[in-house]
Order: sequence, then structure tokens, then C-alpha cells
Amino acid sequence: STPIVAIVGRPNVGKSTLFNKLIGERLSIVDDTPGVTRDRIYGECEWNNRKIRIIDTGGIEPYSDDVILKQMRRQAELAIDTADVTVLVTDVCDGVVATDEEVAQMLQKSGKPVVLCVNKCDQIGEPPAQFYEFYNLGLGEPIQVSSVHGTGTGDLLEEVCKFL
Ligand code: GDP
Ligand code: MG
Repeated sequence: STPIVAIVGRPNVGKSTLFNKLIGERLSIVDDTPGVTRDRIYGECEWNNRKIRIIDTGGIEPYSDDVILKQMRRQAELAIDTADVTVLVTDVCDGVVATDEEVAQMLQKSGKPVVLCVNKCDQIGEPPAQFYEFYNLGLGEPIQVSSVHGTGTGDLLEEVCKFL
């Protein structure tokens, strides 16, 4: 069956922008059951003739530290339960923050494959200095991505496919 990749990360790191870049126009299912917080959207993309289902796990909730943490735990649990590979999205402008560390630990403990996306690396070439902090998350080689420009998404999918 089609492998599933879940995109997780804090609000505003660019999960939905990345998701939209990856799927292009091929958004297939929107989970908008009335009365239920829409906390996942499914789409499909293809890489090297391989079909991949992608889940964007952004909830729509007010931002406060404890709500974000709760939401991230839920995202990570969803990803661990349903995805073959999880993409943890982070923001190079913010550097590594505590919630990144927390969710990285949860994913690592699950033993499931994780690809670390360092988003908002908008300049071509050498990554910004904060990029190197992301090696400390212990999730392997961070992938430099700019979701708005669409750069690095191929490298990201290449890394994802190594686990499929
Ligand atoms: P989400 O909450 O994680 O789903 O984040 P969104 O995809 O909604 O993006 C949050 C904000 O970050 C928006 O203003 C995006 O335009 C911006 N953003 C997303 N990706 C990038 C990127 O690669 N570079 C820059 N500079 N901004 C980005
Ligand atoms: Mg979103």
C-alpha cells in the first residue's frame, strides 16, 4: 500500500507551506468533520515514480506554550501511530527551541524513521549559522529547505525515500 509521511512541528514553522509545495494541486482529502478541530489534511505526491501519502498535522488552536506542547505531543503520537516516516519541521530563524527537543525525543523513542527539515533556509548555498544547532537534536543530517521557494524539497523526499 502507499507509504504515509506525516509532517509535524510547531505552529508557524511552515508545515502547511511545505505540504502544499510537496503535493502541488493534488490535495485529496480534507478532514473537516463539523465540530471537530481540523487537525490533519491528507494529500499525495510522487517522487521517483513512487506514490507517497502526506499528512499535514497542523491544528487550529490559540497559541500558548502549554497548548503548543499538547498539540505537538498529539501530532507526534498521530505520526508514530500512522506514518511510515515522520518529517519534523523546524525554523532556522528560531534555531532549536525546547518544543523541538521534546518532540524530537518522542519521535526518537518511538524508533520510527524521522527526517529533520530545517525550513526557511531561503538563501541559496551556505546555510545560516543557526542551521548547525539542529545536528544537536540527534535526528541525523538536517535537510536545508525553503518551502516558499521550493528549494531542498527534492533532497527532503530523497531522504524520506531511503526509509521506504
Ligand atoms: P505552519 O503553522 O507550520 O503550517 O506554518 P505555515 O505553512 O502556515 O507558515 C507560517 C508562516 O511562515 C507563513 O507566513 C509562511 O509564508 C512562512 N513560511 C513558510 N515557509 C517558509 C520559508 O521557507 N521561508 C520563509 N521565509 N517563510 C516561510
Ligand atoms: Mg499549518
